[in-house]
Amino acid sequence: MTKEIFKNIYLIEVPLPNNPLKNLNSYYIKGKKRNLLVDTGFNNDICYEALTEGLTEIGATMKNTDIFLTHLHSDHTGLCGRIASESSKIFIGSLDKTYLEYFCKGTYWDDTKDKFVNQGFSESEFLVNKDTNPIVKYAPPKDTLYTAVEDGHVFDLGGVRLETIFTPGHTPGHMCLYIRDKKILFSGDHIIFDITPNISPLPGITNSLGCYLKSLEKLKDLEVEHTLSSHRNAMGDDKKRINELIEHHMERLDEAYSIVENSGGLSSYEVASKMTWSVRLNDWKDFPPHQKWFAVGEAAAHLDYLQQNGKIHKYKRDNVYIYSVS
Ligand SMILES: [Zn+2]
Repeated sequence: MTKEIFKNIYLIEVPLPNNPLKNLNSYYIKGKKRNLLVDTGFNNDICYEALTEGLTEIGATMKNTDIFLTHLHSDHTGLCGRIASESSKIFIGSLDKTYLEYFCKGTYWDDTKDKFVNQGFSESEFLVNKDTNPIVKYAPPKDTLYTAVEDGHVFDLGGVRLETIFTPGHTPGHMCLYIRDKKILFSGDHIIFDITPNISPLPGITNSLGCYLKSLEKLKDLEVEHTLSSHRNAMGDDKKRINELIEHHMERLDEAYSIVENSGGLSSYEVASKMTWSVRLNDWKDFPPHQKWFAVGEAAAHLDYLQQNGKIHKYKRDNVYIYSVS
């Protein structure tokens, strides 16, 4: 589905089959000098066809269009190299550029195995994840060239100006885009309306949840009339959603704390298996491997937040991080 949601701003819905995110909302912004495509979809044929059909419907060509990636995840970046023309620049926040290039170079799983084991995954679950995880499978080709942008960078498309806002937490270098004179915010995966963005431990950041909550606070005073998010329902009330997201994480912190409190010490994997999840599965053992990966990451981010705030302890036992109250 493609539609003009505001003058010269188009929404292209890119389906993400068999993925709980359901769709990626790609945005096309028409300017007088250049146009900008915000996020692209996985690097697979279904996403490619939907995105190219959407662009054709709008009458857009990549010859005069650049690409902005809100963050490094492949449901946003996957197609950028395939869709770009020779003159297209592919922009991404500088921190995520570094991690995306690393992510695509092919050693990610070898380097990440220890992290899985440290969180309490078994070796066999790690191996299944390695083969099935869509985040790595549908990433952009490793020779793709990116241009790094910093916080406050302005894209002047001619008639429309967009500013980047650095909002780390979902990824180390996540960025939103803001059209100040129209009070429109492209929130990427920082604010999503129907689901909560995944928050997991991040490279180079000791408290990713704390970092995410700080980035939510950062947007509280921003004048926004329309927020355009990356998944499911594109639009909603940003201030209301910011408060709901903060509340959600406070409840999750309470839940994680009470699970640890009533135990003699648990790994993130064990805590995740006892937390409540809004997936239609009753039993933790029925979770698909990559959903376990997200869930364990989410649990670890909450446990690290509690540990950083002095509420619980974290120590290593047989190569696995254990969280306990005493
Ligand atoms: Zn996403």
